[in-house]
Amino acid sequence: RAHLDRIRDVDGDVHAFLHVNDQALEVAADIDRRRVAGEELGALAGVPLAIKDVLVTTDMPSTSGSRILEGYMSPYDATVVSRSRAAGLVPLGKTNMDEFAMGSSTEHSAYGPTRNPWDLDRIPGGSGGGSAAAVAAFEAPLALGSDTGGSIRQPAHVTGTVGMKPTYGGVSRYGAIALASSLDQVGPVTRTVLDAGLLHDVIGGHDPHDATSLEDVWPSFADAARDGATGDVLRGLRVGVIAELPDSGFQPGVSLRFRAALDAMAAQGAEIVEVSAPHFEYGVAAYYLILPAEASSNLAKFDSVRFGMRVIPHAGATVEEVMAATREAGFGDEVKRRVILGTYALSAGYYDAYYGSAQKVRTLIQSDFDAAFSQVDVLATPSAPTTAFRLGEKLDDPLQMYLNDVTTIPANLAGVPGISIPAGLAPEDGLPVGIQFLAPARQDARLYRVGAAVE
Ligand code: GLN
Repeated sequence: RAHLDRIRDVDGDVHAFLHVNDQALEVAADIDRRRVAGEELGALAGVPLAIKDVLVTTDMPSTSGSRILEGYMSPYDATVVSRSRAAGLVPLGKTNMDEFAMGSSTEHSAYGPTRNPWDLDRIPGGSGGGSAAAVAAFEAPLALGSDTGGSIRQPAHVTGTVGMKPTYGGVSRYGAIALASSLDQVGPVTRTVLDAGLLHDVIGGHDPHDATSLEDVWPSFADAARDGATGDVLRGLRVGVIAELPDSGFQPGVSLRFRAALDAMAAQGAEIVEVSAPHFEYGVAAYYLILPAEASSNLAKFDSVRFGMRVIPHAGATVEEVMAATREAGFGDEVKRRVILGTYALSAGYYDAYYGSAQKVRTLIQSDFDAAFSQVDVLATPSAPTTAFRLGEKLDDPLQMYLNDVTTIPANLAGVPGISIPAGLAPEDGLPVGIQFLAPARQDARLYRVGAAVE
Protein backbone atom coordinates (compact mmCIF):
# COMPACT_ATOMS: atom_id res chain seq x y z
CA ARG A 1 0.00 0.00 0.00
CA ALA A 2 2.87 2.34 0.84
CA HIS A 3 4.40 1.78 -2.58
CA LEU A 4 1.07 2.31 -4.35
CA ASP A 5 0.63 5.57 -2.39
CA ARG A 6 4.12 6.64 -3.38
CA ILE A 7 3.39 5.89 -7.03
CA ARG A 8 0.20 7.95 -6.80
CA ASP A 9 2.13 10.83 -5.21
CA VAL A 10 5.21 11.02 -7.44
CA ASP A 11 4.65 9.09 -10.65
CA GLY A 12 2.80 11.96 -12.29
CA ASP A 13 6.20 13.69 -12.33
CA VAL A 14 8.56 10.72 -12.66
CA HIS A 15 6.50 8.58 -15.07
CA ALA A 16 8.38 5.39 -14.23
CA PHE A 17 5.30 3.22 -14.79
CA LEU A 18 3.38 2.45 -17.96
CA HIS A 19 0.90 0.32 -16.03
CA VAL A 20 0.21 -0.14 -12.32
CA ASN A 21 -1.13 -3.53 -11.21
CA ASP A 22 -4.62 -3.01 -9.80
CA GLN A 23 -4.45 -6.53 -8.32
CA ALA A 24 -1.30 -5.84 -6.27
CA LEU A 25 -3.04 -5.52 -2.90
CA GLU A 26 -5.02 -8.71 -3.47
CA VAL A 27 -1.90 -10.65 -4.43
CA ALA A 28 -0.16 -9.32 -1.32
CA ALA A 29 -3.12 -10.25 0.89
CA ASP A 30 -3.09 -13.76 -0.54
CA ILE A 31 0.61 -14.16 0.25
CA ASP A 32 -0.07 -12.91 3.74
CA ARG A 33 -2.80 -15.54 4.17
CA ARG A 34 -0.38 -18.23 3.04
CA ARG A 35 2.19 -16.99 5.52
CA VAL A 36 -0.32 -16.97 8.36
CA ALA A 37 -1.38 -20.49 7.39
CA GLY A 38 2.20 -21.55 8.08
CA GLU A 39 3.49 -21.93 4.52
CA GLU A 40 7.31 -21.70 4.15
CA LEU A 41 7.83 -18.62 1.96
CA GLY A 42 11.08 -17.25 0.56
CA ALA A 43 12.91 -14.14 1.72
CA LEU A 44 11.20 -11.90 -0.85
CA ALA A 45 7.62 -13.14 -0.35
CA GLY A 46 5.28 -10.15 -0.19
CA VAL A 47 7.85 -7.70 -1.55
CA PRO A 48 6.63 -5.54 -4.46
CA LEU A 49 8.45 -5.85 -7.79
CA ALA A 50 8.46 -3.40 -10.71
CA ILE A 51 8.80 -5.16 -14.07
CA LYS A 52 10.33 -3.64 -17.19
CA ASP A 53 7.76 -3.67 -19.97
CA VAL A 54 10.08 -5.75 -22.18
CA LEU A 55 9.06 -8.76 -20.03
CA VAL A 56 5.73 -10.32 -20.95
CA THR A 57 3.02 -10.77 -18.33
CA THR A 58 -0.40 -12.42 -18.56
CA ASP A 59 -2.19 -9.98 -16.25
CA MET A 60 -0.83 -6.66 -17.51
CA PRO A 61 -0.15 -5.30 -21.02
CA SER A 62 3.37 -5.72 -22.43
CA THR A 63 4.37 -3.05 -24.95
CA SER A 64 8.18 -2.93 -24.85
CA GLY A 65 7.69 0.84 -25.02
CA SER A 66 6.29 0.60 -28.55
CA ARG A 67 3.09 1.87 -30.12
CA ILE A 68 2.98 -1.29 -32.25
CA LEU A 69 2.28 -3.38 -29.12
CA GLU A 70 -0.11 -0.94 -27.42
CA GLY A 71 -2.45 -2.93 -25.16
CA TYR A 72 -0.86 -6.26 -26.12
CA MET A 73 -1.68 -9.08 -23.68
CA SER A 74 0.67 -12.05 -23.62
CA PRO A 75 -0.74 -15.57 -23.30
CA TYR A 76 2.18 -16.52 -21.03
CA ASP A 77 4.53 -15.04 -18.41
CA ALA A 78 8.25 -14.55 -18.96
CA THR A 79 10.18 -17.13 -16.91
CA VAL A 80 11.62 -14.40 -14.68
CA VAL A 81 8.06 -13.24 -13.99
CA SER A 82 6.67 -16.71 -13.25
CA ARG A 83 9.62 -17.41 -10.94
CA SER A 84 9.06 -14.09 -9.17
CA ARG A 85 5.39 -14.88 -8.69
CA ALA A 86 6.24 -18.36 -7.41
CA ALA A 87 8.61 -16.80 -4.85
CA GLY A 88 5.76 -14.58 -3.61
CA LEU A 89 6.96 -11.30 -5.07
CA VAL A 90 4.08 -8.95 -5.81
CA PRO A 91 4.07 -7.51 -9.35
CA LEU A 92 3.57 -3.78 -8.85
CA GLY A 93 3.41 -2.73 -12.48
CA LYS A 94 5.25 -2.42 -15.78
CA THR A 95 7.98 0.17 -16.19
CA ASN A 96 8.73 2.58 -18.99
CA MET A 97 11.58 2.02 -21.41
CA ASP A 98 13.03 3.13 -24.71
CA GLU A 99 11.09 1.48 -27.52
CA PHE A 100 12.25 -2.15 -27.84
CA ALA A 101 15.09 -1.27 -25.43
CA MET A 102 16.85 0.94 -27.98
CA GLY A 103 18.32 3.91 -26.18
CA SER A 104 20.15 5.34 -23.19
CA SER A 105 17.64 7.89 -21.92
CA THR A 106 14.08 6.43 -22.05
CA GLU A 107 13.24 9.35 -24.35
CA HIS A 108 12.59 6.87 -27.18
CA SER A 109 9.55 5.43 -25.38
CA ALA A 110 6.38 5.78 -27.45
CA TYR A 111 4.62 6.74 -24.20
CA GLY A 112 6.70 9.76 -23.21
CA PRO A 113 9.93 9.96 -21.21
CA THR A 114 10.64 8.98 -17.63
CA ARG A 115 12.34 11.64 -15.50
CA ASN A 116 15.25 11.19 -13.12
CA PRO A 117 14.00 11.50 -9.51
CA TRP A 118 17.26 13.29 -8.58
CA ASP A 119 16.43 16.11 -11.02
CA LEU A 120 13.24 15.99 -13.05
CA ASP A 121 14.85 17.88 -15.94
CA ARG A 122 17.29 15.02 -16.44
CA ILE A 123 17.11 11.58 -18.01
CA PRO A 124 16.95 8.42 -15.85
CA GLY A 125 19.18 6.48 -18.25
CA GLY A 126 17.99 3.85 -20.64
CA SER A 127 16.68 1.76 -21.91
CA GLY A 128 15.43 0.69 -18.49
CA GLY A 129 14.95 4.19 -17.11
CA GLY A 130 11.54 3.31 -15.71
CA SER A 131 12.83 0.46 -13.54
CA ALA A 132 15.76 2.49 -12.21
CA ALA A 133 13.65 5.61 -11.57
CA ALA A 134 10.98 3.54 -9.78
CA VAL A 135 13.61 2.16 -7.41
CA ALA A 136 15.39 5.50 -6.94
CA ALA A 137 12.08 7.31 -6.26
CA PHE A 138 11.06 4.70 -3.66
CA GLU A 139 8.08 3.70 -5.80
CA ALA A 140 9.36 0.12 -5.77
CA PRO A 141 11.98 -1.63 -3.64
CA LEU A 142 13.07 -3.98 -6.42
CA ALA A 143 12.84 -4.00 -10.21
CA LEU A 144 13.65 -6.18 -13.17
CA GLY A 145 15.53 -4.81 -16.16
CA SER A 146 17.16 -6.06 -19.32
CA ASP A 147 20.65 -5.24 -20.52
CA THR A 148 21.75 -5.59 -24.15
CA GLY A 149 24.47 -2.94 -24.08
CA GLY A 150 24.05 -1.32 -20.68
CA SER A 151 20.32 -0.86 -20.10
CA ILE A 152 20.49 -2.11 -16.51
CA ARG A 153 23.88 -0.69 -15.53
CA GLN A 154 23.72 2.80 -17.10
CA PRO A 155 20.29 3.65 -15.58
CA ALA A 156 21.65 2.38 -12.23
CA HIS A 157 24.66 4.70 -12.63
CA VAL A 158 22.57 7.84 -13.25
CA THR A 159 19.99 7.10 -10.53
CA GLY A 160 22.26 5.98 -7.67
CA THR A 161 20.94 2.41 -7.72
CA VAL A 162 22.52 -1.04 -8.10
CA GLY A 163 22.18 -2.78 -11.48
CA MET A 164 23.46 -6.24 -12.35
CA LYS A 165 23.81 -7.80 -15.80
CA PRO A 166 24.31 -11.53 -15.26
CA THR A 167 26.54 -13.84 -17.31
CA TYR A 168 24.92 -14.49 -20.70
CA GLY A 169 22.72 -17.57 -20.22
CA GLY A 170 22.55 -17.18 -16.44
CA VAL A 171 19.00 -15.80 -16.43
CA SER A 172 16.28 -16.96 -18.82
CA ARG A 173 15.36 -14.77 -21.79
CA TYR A 174 12.10 -16.66 -22.33
CA GLY A 175 9.38 -14.01 -22.51
CA ALA A 176 11.83 -11.10 -22.78
CA ILE A 177 10.84 -9.38 -26.03
CA ALA A 178 14.07 -9.81 -28.00
CA LEU A 179 16.22 -6.86 -29.01
CA ALA A 180 19.50 -8.63 -29.92
CA SER A 181 19.35 -12.25 -28.86
CA SER A 182 23.10 -12.83 -28.55
CA LEU A 183 23.46 -9.80 -26.22
CA ASP A 184 20.23 -9.60 -24.16
CA GLN A 185 20.24 -10.54 -20.46
CA VAL A 186 17.64 -9.95 -17.75
CA GLY A 187 18.75 -8.82 -14.29
CA PRO A 188 17.93 -6.92 -11.08
CA VAL A 189 17.82 -3.17 -10.37
CA THR A 190 17.75 -2.47 -6.63
CA ARG A 191 18.96 -0.15 -3.88
CA THR A 192 21.51 -2.54 -2.36
CA VAL A 193 23.79 -5.31 -3.59
CA LEU A 194 22.14 -7.78 -1.20
CA ASP A 195 18.70 -6.96 -2.66
CA ALA A 196 20.08 -7.64 -6.15
CA GLY A 197 21.51 -10.96 -4.98
CA LEU A 198 18.20 -12.00 -3.42
CA LEU A 199 16.30 -11.20 -6.62
CA HIS A 200 18.94 -12.84 -8.84
CA ASP A 201 18.60 -16.03 -6.76
CA VAL A 202 14.85 -16.04 -7.55
CA ILE A 203 15.03 -15.37 -11.31
CA GLY A 204 18.27 -17.17 -12.26
CA GLY A 205 19.19 -20.72 -13.18
CA HIS A 206 18.52 -23.10 -16.02
CA ASP A 207 15.34 -22.77 -18.07
CA PRO A 208 14.56 -25.39 -20.73
CA HIS A 209 12.44 -22.75 -22.55
CA ASP A 210 15.58 -20.74 -23.40
CA ALA A 211 17.97 -22.61 -25.71
CA THR A 212 20.92 -20.45 -24.58
CA SER A 213 20.26 -20.97 -20.87
CA LEU A 214 23.28 -22.40 -19.03
CA GLU A 215 22.79 -25.63 -17.11
CA ASP A 216 25.11 -24.51 -14.30
CA VAL A 217 24.10 -24.86 -10.69
CA TRP A 218 24.69 -21.35 -9.33
CA PRO A 219 25.78 -20.45 -5.82
CA SER A 220 23.52 -18.19 -3.74
CA PHE A 221 24.18 -14.60 -4.78
CA ALA A 222 22.56 -13.32 -1.59
CA ASP A 223 25.08 -15.36 0.41
CA ALA A 224 27.88 -13.94 -1.75
CA ALA A 225 26.63 -10.40 -0.98
CA ARG A 226 26.43 -11.15 2.76
CA ASP A 227 29.93 -12.56 2.61
CA GLY A 228 31.16 -9.42 0.86
CA ALA A 229 29.52 -7.12 3.40
CA THR A 230 31.07 -8.86 6.40
CA GLY A 231 34.24 -10.58 5.20
CA ASP A 232 37.65 -9.27 4.28
CA VAL A 233 37.13 -9.88 0.54
CA LEU A 234 39.10 -6.88 -0.72
CA ARG A 235 42.40 -7.98 0.84
CA GLY A 236 44.59 -9.34 -1.97
CA LEU A 237 41.87 -8.79 -4.60
CA ARG A 238 43.44 -7.86 -7.93
CA VAL A 239 41.42 -5.07 -9.56
CA GLY A 240 42.22 -4.29 -13.19
CA VAL A 241 41.96 -0.81 -14.62
CA ILE A 242 41.96 -0.61 -18.42
CA ALA A 243 44.96 1.32 -19.73
CA GLU A 244 43.35 2.24 -23.06
CA LEU A 245 40.19 3.70 -21.55
CA PRO A 246 40.99 7.41 -21.91
CA ASP A 247 40.41 9.71 -18.97
CA SER A 248 39.24 12.31 -21.45
CA GLY A 249 35.64 11.88 -22.50
CA PHE A 250 34.72 11.21 -18.89
CA GLN A 251 33.15 13.99 -16.88
CA PRO A 252 35.64 15.12 -14.18
CA GLY A 253 33.32 14.16 -11.32
CA VAL A 254 32.84 10.68 -12.79
CA SER A 255 36.61 10.14 -12.99
CA LEU A 256 37.03 11.60 -9.50
CA ARG A 257 34.50 9.23 -7.93
CA PHE A 258 35.98 6.30 -9.84
CA ARG A 259 39.51 7.06 -8.58
CA ALA A 260 38.21 7.62 -5.03
CA ALA A 261 36.47 4.22 -5.08
CA LEU A 262 39.69 2.55 -6.23
CA ASP A 263 41.69 4.35 -3.51
CA ALA A 264 39.21 3.16 -0.88
CA MET A 265 39.56 -0.41 -2.17
CA ALA A 266 43.34 -0.15 -2.13
CA ALA A 267 43.19 1.12 1.47
CA GLN A 268 41.40 -2.13 2.33
CA GLY A 269 44.09 -4.26 0.76
CA ALA A 270 43.07 -4.49 -2.91
CA GLU A 271 45.81 -4.37 -5.49
CA ILE A 272 45.04 -2.00 -8.38
CA VAL A 273 46.67 -3.26 -11.59
CA GLU A 274 46.75 -1.61 -14.99
CA VAL A 275 45.76 -4.07 -17.72
CA SER A 276 45.57 -3.71 -21.47
CA ALA A 277 42.32 -4.24 -23.38
CA PRO A 278 43.21 -2.66 -26.73
CA HIS A 279 39.95 -3.61 -28.49
CA PHE A 280 37.60 -2.37 -25.78
CA GLU A 281 37.25 1.01 -27.51
CA TYR A 282 35.94 -0.63 -30.72
CA GLY A 283 33.06 -2.17 -28.79
CA VAL A 284 30.57 0.57 -29.63
CA ALA A 285 31.33 0.33 -33.36
CA ALA A 286 30.98 -3.47 -33.42
CA TYR A 287 27.85 -3.33 -31.27
CA TYR A 288 26.08 -0.91 -33.60
CA LEU A 289 26.47 -3.40 -36.45
CA ILE A 290 25.65 -6.58 -34.52
CA LEU A 291 22.73 -5.10 -32.60
CA PRO A 292 20.85 -3.59 -35.58
CA ALA A 293 21.45 -6.79 -37.57
CA GLU A 294 19.89 -8.96 -34.88
CA ALA A 295 17.21 -6.40 -34.02
CA SER A 296 16.07 -6.05 -37.63
CA SER A 297 15.47 -9.81 -37.80
CA ASN A 298 13.82 -9.96 -34.37
CA LEU A 299 11.46 -7.10 -35.27
CA ALA A 300 10.42 -8.77 -38.54
CA LYS A 301 7.76 -10.58 -36.53
CA PHE A 302 5.83 -7.32 -36.10
CA ASP A 303 4.14 -7.83 -39.43
CA SER A 304 0.60 -6.59 -38.63
CA VAL A 305 -0.64 -10.18 -38.72
CA ARG A 306 0.56 -11.97 -35.59
CA PHE A 307 0.94 -9.26 -32.95
CA GLY A 308 -0.42 -5.91 -32.02
CA MET A 309 -1.30 -3.03 -34.27
CA ARG A 310 -2.74 -3.28 -37.79
CA VAL A 311 -3.16 -0.25 -40.02
CA ILE A 312 -5.19 -0.68 -43.22
CA PRO A 313 -4.19 2.30 -45.34
CA HIS A 314 -7.09 2.07 -47.81
CA ALA A 315 -9.78 -0.31 -49.00
CA GLY A 316 -8.31 -3.13 -51.04
CA ALA A 317 -4.77 -2.61 -49.66
CA THR A 318 -2.37 -5.47 -50.35
CA VAL A 319 -0.63 -7.43 -47.56
CA GLU A 320 2.57 -5.51 -48.27
CA GLU A 321 0.76 -2.18 -48.04
CA VAL A 322 -0.79 -3.17 -44.71
CA MET A 323 2.57 -4.28 -43.32
CA ALA A 324 4.29 -1.11 -44.51
CA ALA A 325 1.57 1.18 -43.14
CA THR A 326 1.57 -0.66 -39.80
CA ARG A 327 5.32 -0.53 -39.35
CA GLU A 328 5.39 3.10 -40.50
CA ALA A 329 2.81 4.05 -37.84
CA GLY A 330 3.83 1.57 -35.14
CA PHE A 331 7.61 2.06 -34.96
CA GLY A 332 9.38 5.19 -33.76
CA ASP A 333 12.33 6.88 -35.47
CA GLU A 334 15.08 5.10 -33.51
CA VAL A 335 13.58 1.68 -34.28
CA LYS A 336 13.34 2.54 -37.98
CA ARG A 337 16.92 3.83 -37.97
CA ARG A 338 18.18 0.54 -36.55
CA VAL A 339 16.07 -1.66 -38.85
CA ILE A 340 17.53 0.23 -41.82
CA LEU A 341 21.10 -0.09 -40.44
CA GLY A 342 20.60 -3.78 -39.69
CA THR A 343 19.08 -4.84 -43.00
CA TYR A 344 21.79 -2.84 -44.81
CA ALA A 345 24.60 -4.48 -42.81
CA LEU A 346 23.17 -7.92 -43.55
CA SER A 347 22.57 -7.40 -47.25
CA ALA A 348 24.43 -9.49 -49.84
CA GLY A 349 27.75 -7.92 -50.72
CA TYR A 350 28.06 -6.00 -47.44
CA TYR A 351 27.76 -8.88 -45.02
CA ASP A 352 31.50 -9.62 -44.79
CA ALA A 353 32.53 -5.98 -44.72
CA TYR A 354 30.20 -4.99 -41.87
CA TYR A 355 28.62 -7.84 -39.93
CA GLY A 356 31.60 -10.16 -40.53
CA SER A 357 34.14 -7.55 -39.37
CA ALA A 358 32.03 -6.70 -36.33
CA GLN A 359 31.97 -10.38 -35.33
CA LYS A 360 35.78 -10.47 -35.60
CA VAL A 361 36.02 -7.43 -33.31
CA ARG A 362 33.71 -9.23 -30.91
CA THR A 363 36.15 -12.16 -30.79
CA LEU A 364 39.07 -9.76 -30.18
CA ILE A 365 37.18 -8.17 -27.27
CA GLN A 366 36.58 -11.64 -25.84
CA SER A 367 40.32 -12.34 -26.06
CA ASP A 368 41.06 -9.00 -24.37
CA PHE A 369 38.86 -10.12 -21.47
CA ASP A 370 40.55 -13.55 -21.34
CA ALA A 371 43.98 -11.92 -21.21
CA ALA A 372 42.89 -9.38 -18.58
CA PHE A 373 41.26 -12.00 -16.36
CA SER A 374 44.46 -14.07 -16.41
CA GLN A 375 46.00 -11.15 -14.47
CA VAL A 376 43.18 -9.80 -12.31
CA ASP A 377 40.07 -11.00 -10.45
CA VAL A 378 37.78 -8.17 -11.57
CA LEU A 379 37.96 -5.21 -13.92
CA ALA A 380 36.73 -1.79 -12.80
CA THR A 381 35.50 1.10 -14.98
CA PRO A 382 33.24 4.10 -14.49
CA SER A 383 29.76 2.77 -15.36
CA ALA A 384 29.18 5.54 -17.94
CA PRO A 385 31.04 8.66 -19.11
CA THR A 386 28.76 11.31 -17.58
CA THR A 387 26.12 11.82 -14.93
CA ALA A 388 22.47 12.16 -16.00
CA PHE A 389 22.21 14.57 -18.91
CA ARG A 390 19.26 16.88 -19.55
CA LEU A 391 16.17 15.69 -21.38
CA GLY A 392 16.50 16.53 -25.05
CA GLU A 393 20.26 17.12 -24.84
CA LYS A 394 21.30 14.14 -26.98
CA LEU A 395 18.04 13.32 -28.69
CA ASP A 396 19.02 14.77 -32.06
CA ASP A 397 22.47 13.23 -32.04
CA PRO A 398 22.28 9.42 -32.12
CA LEU A 399 26.07 9.05 -32.08
CA GLN A 400 26.37 10.97 -28.78
CA MET A 401 23.61 8.78 -27.38
CA TYR A 402 25.43 5.61 -28.54
CA LEU A 403 28.74 6.71 -26.99
CA ASN A 404 27.12 6.54 -23.55
CA ASP A 405 27.59 2.80 -23.59
CA VAL A 406 31.34 2.75 -24.19
CA THR A 407 32.12 1.03 -20.88
CA THR A 408 29.06 -1.23 -20.64
CA ILE A 409 28.87 -2.72 -24.17
CA PRO A 410 32.04 -4.89 -24.02
CA ALA A 411 30.49 -7.10 -21.32
CA ASN A 412 27.51 -7.89 -23.57
CA LEU A 413 29.76 -8.61 -26.54
CA ALA A 414 31.80 -11.05 -24.42
CA GLY A 415 28.89 -12.46 -22.39
CA VAL A 416 30.57 -11.65 -19.06
CA PRO A 417 28.72 -10.34 -15.99
CA GLY A 418 28.83 -6.69 -14.92
CA ILE A 419 27.48 -4.74 -11.97
CA SER A 420 27.10 -1.01 -11.35
CA ILE A 421 27.34 0.15 -7.72
CA PRO A 422 26.74 3.72 -6.48
CA ALA A 423 30.08 5.49 -5.96
CA GLY A 424 28.90 8.84 -4.57
CA LEU A 425 27.97 12.13 -6.20
CA ALA A 426 29.84 14.19 -8.77
CA PRO A 427 30.84 17.43 -7.01
CA GLU A 428 30.13 19.64 -10.05
CA ASP A 429 26.42 18.72 -10.32
CA GLY A 430 25.58 16.70 -7.20
CA LEU A 431 24.33 13.79 -9.32
CA PRO A 432 24.99 10.07 -8.76
CA VAL A 433 27.95 8.22 -10.24
CA GLY A 434 28.38 4.45 -10.50
CA ILE A 435 31.43 2.21 -10.59
CA GLN A 436 31.23 -0.90 -12.75
CA PHE A 437 32.89 -4.22 -11.94
CA LEU A 438 33.27 -6.97 -14.52
CA ALA A 439 34.18 -10.61 -13.86
CA PRO A 440 34.83 -13.68 -16.02
CA ALA A 441 31.77 -15.55 -17.33
CA ARG A 442 30.03 -17.59 -14.64
CA GLN A 443 31.73 -15.61 -11.81
CA ASP A 444 28.63 -13.54 -10.96
CA ALA A 445 29.04 -14.40 -7.28
CA ARG A 446 32.40 -12.61 -7.29
CA LEU A 447 30.64 -9.38 -8.35
CA TYR A 448 28.17 -9.67 -5.47
CA ARG A 449 31.04 -10.26 -3.04
CA VAL A 450 33.07 -7.30 -4.31
CA GLY A 451 30.01 -5.07 -4.82
CA ALA A 452 28.79 -5.59 -1.26
CA ALA A 453 32.29 -4.90 0.08
CA VAL A 454 32.49 -1.62 -1.84
CA GLU A 455 28.98 -0.16 -1.40
N1 GLN B 1 21.82 2.04 -25.00
C1 GLN B 1 22.07 0.82 -25.69
C2 GLN B 1 21.30 0.78 -26.98
O1 GLN B 1 20.69 1.73 -27.27
C3 GLN B 1 21.79 -0.35 -24.80
C4 GLN B 1 20.39 -0.78 -24.83
C5 GLN B 1 20.13 -1.98 -23.99
O2 GLN B 1 20.97 -2.44 -23.22
N2 GLN B 1 18.95 -2.53 -24.17
O3 GLN B 1 21.29 -0.19 -27.68
